Amino acid sequence: MANADLRLKENVAGEFFVDETCIDCDTCRQIAPKTFHDHGGQSSVYRQPKNPEEIKLANMSVVACPTGSIGAGKMLDAKAAIDSFPYKITENIYYCGYNSEQSFGAWSYLLTRPLEEGGNILIDSPRFSSPLVKNIEKLGGIEKIFLSHKDDIADHDSFAEKFGAERFMHADDGAKTYGIENIIEGDGEFEIDDELKIIPVSGHTKGSQVLLYKNKYLFTGDHLAWSPSRDSLIAFRGACWYSWTEQIDSMEKLLDYEFEWVLPGHGRIAHRPKSEMKEHLIGCIKWMKKVA
Ligand code: SF4
Repeated sequence: MANADLRLKENVAGEFFVDETCIDCDTCRQIAPKTFHDHGGQSSVYRQPKNPEEIKLANMSVVACPTGSIGAGKMLDAKAAIDSFPYKITENIYYCGYNSEQSFGAWSYLLTRPLEEGGNILIDSPRFSSPLVKNIEKLGGIEKIFLSHKDDIADHDSFAEKFGAERFMHADDGAKTYGIENIIEGDGEFEIDDELKIIPVSGHTKGSQVLLYKNKYLFTGDHLAWSPSRDSLIAFRGACWYSWTEQIDSMEKLLDYEFEWVLPGHGRIAHRPKSEMKEHLIGCIKWMKKVA
């Protein structure tokens, strides 16, 4: 729970506030951009939510915040916020909320499918929290867990045990040490089934991988994301822990695929027509080579 004694001075007056424990993960700013902003290295409330929709989104941020840094005072509606996760983004794709501090607040997703089509997939791991687990159960549980890279695995083991789910992770990010059931090796594509392809994308970490669903949705971990300020796709030059050169090569590999959604762990979600997304990917690769 946020501590009012640690309330940041940058917050405007009112019930909602951010305290000093904020780690600047960007989650609240994505969920409730009309309430939270980046004042430089941390988030704060720049405008109190004014209508039911804004209040709902601000309350969802309270639950999603990985560090419990957001206070809501008398405006707290914990039940509604808890009930809102997993939060439907589109079709059968959900944002899990309950971001984990272990993953520096990375976003995780749930893809739902009937069992006969392969069942539900958890993409990276949120905090293992009872209300979330119950809501995932209502959506059909979890059959498989895709882990994009070692930084965003959080409570994967608890989810795997609870749901009897099999996990997919790359060998080069230590899959064996985590007791992963399906260890991906090398840089070739791996088909989970007709709809789901794992594409290794070494760079951000040696064993980074992305997941392509129906040639439409690309779950990218920390390999690729949307930047609103650049209005294009980006990679994180300052957070490339393994090899920028390999990350560029891996990005070029993605030119062989089609997708219209980019759903990252960090950075913003993007939805564009496939042709436009391809142009943004080409632009991203050009930019990556320039800053290499
Ligand atoms: S969600 Fe929490 S940790 Fe992340 S930016 Fe907002 S207040 Fe800070």
